[in-house]
Amino acid sequence: MNVSQAKSMWVSILGKLESEIQRPMLITWFKDTAILGKEDNNLIVGLPLPMFLNWHLEHYREPTLKAAREIDSSVEKIVYKVDLSLRDDEMRTVDLIGVSPAKKRRKLPNKPEVKIAEGLRSKMLNPKYSLNNFVVGGSNRLAHAAAIAVAAQPGGKYNPFFIYGGVGLGKTHLLQAIGNGVLGSNPEATVLYTTSEEFTNQVIEAIKHQKMEQLRRRFRQVDTLIIDDIQFFAGKERTQEEFFHTFNTLLESGRQVIISSDRSPKDLHALPDRLKSRFERGMVADVRMPDYETRVAILNDRAKEYELFLDQKVMAFIAEHVTDSVRTLEGVLMQVFAQYELEHQMPTLSSVVNILKKLSRDPSEISEDIGFEQPVARAARLEDILESVSKYYSVSIQDMIGTSRMRNIMIPRQIAMYIGKKYLNMSLVQLGERFSNRDHSTVLHAIKKIEKEIQKDPDMIREINAIEKDVGVKK
Ligand code: ADP
Ligand code: MG
Repeated sequence: MNVSQAKSMWVSILGKLESEIQRPMLITWFKDTAILGKEDNNLIVGLPLPMFLNWHLEHYREPTLKAAREIDSSVEKIVYKVDLSLRDDEMRTVDLIGVSPAKKRRKLPNKPEVKIAEGLRSKMLNPKYSLNNFVVGGSNRLAHAAAIAVAAQPGGKYNPFFIYGGVGLGKTHLLQAIGNGVLGSNPEATVLYTTSEEFTNQVIEAIKHQKMEQLRRRFRQVDTLIIDDIQFFAGKERTQEEFFHTFNTLLESGRQVIISSDRSPKDLHALPDRLKSRFERGMVADVRMPDYETRVAILNDRAKEYELFLDQKVMAFIAEHVTDSVRTLEGVLMQVFAQYELEHQMPTLSSVVNILKKLSRDPSEISEDIGFEQPVARAARLEDILESVSKYYSVSIQDMIGTSRMRNIMIPRQIAMYIGKKYLNMSLVQLGERFSNRDHSTVLHAIKKIEKEIQKDPDMIREINAIEKDVGVKK
């Protein structure tokens, strides 16, 4: 099933669900969902957030299956998979307002037409992200101020502009808001917003079809280049090389480049030094978790959008207890909203406590029979393993996740992967991501290699046992 087939099937299914699910619920819970594929008669439905999972399992699995079977009778099961990237992916997800054009709850502005050099693919700028609806606090003040300056004068003082910070803290929001801002004051500008994955795909395709020169020429016509999540360039040398060229050309001709990453330039160990130091010469700003007051302000803003008027005590409680990301904060509010719509009851402190409890429930409990891929929940434990292996062999974690092929580094790296696979509920792809984005076959190869070594080398067994004890997975 290709992307457009998947999309049109999903549109038909949503059309059928529309008669059974109230419209606000449909918009809340099916936003940014997509069909990811079909494997052996399992229809894989992608959800943009882990917290959607319980809700879909409890409320929508049956009706979704029924609707799917009316369209394709060979479907036997709905399998959910969380894919965070669906949040920013308009290629795969469906515009629910379009599918379900009943009266609009709130009016969304029209998407600006992005003028883009022919032959380049841009992700759409989403008009919901603006610099005005970004709530400012100590955790993001510098990033926001710089974003305003860049939007007002692209190619000016802050070039390149580099934003970094953890997941769900507002990087994509700011990046897209700058793009919208630039186009707002100059609709003729060529703004390209893309992710590092998309950039990489274009480079790979161009290489395959020997059209690199053409692609380069096209990138050079962009006035403002925005690349989201640049950490995924790690380990992709050819892509880095191409990016470096494009980047330099644009900077030299006074065009604006804006980049985001999950860590600071200095900590992007897998990128070449010349690229890192080039980033550092521009404007670098971080976004952190907003403090309590800012969290309350964000909640109030969002609640207004939902036309939901909550007790300030309830707001305060959510703000106090959700401390990992703004995305989670919004997710909790959405659940509160959904419950309110479903039960026609004002949320109370105790109903919110239940929602929070449910959200913190370990998703692995229900992961087995539905093929749920663990999203990020186990990341902390992979870090424990890396730390123990690093200590045991006196090899730095940086080296272990890096690209060196020296034996004294390769073996610890492979052992870390082996122990990770054995004890963590992580897929090979997810494991590979932590190791400079190695692909799943590389990880599999490493694990197989250690398995083989163990057969013939008792020392290896002893070493692994010691590490597993240190990690605490073995007595
Ligand atoms: P990131 O790209 O850093 O992972 P996003 O930009 O996707 O995070 O932010 C996650 C969600 O939180 C988005 O819906 C975004 O609009 C919202 N958000 C983050 N920070 C703020 C803020 N300071 N004010 C308002 N909304 C915010
Ligand atoms: Mg993002």
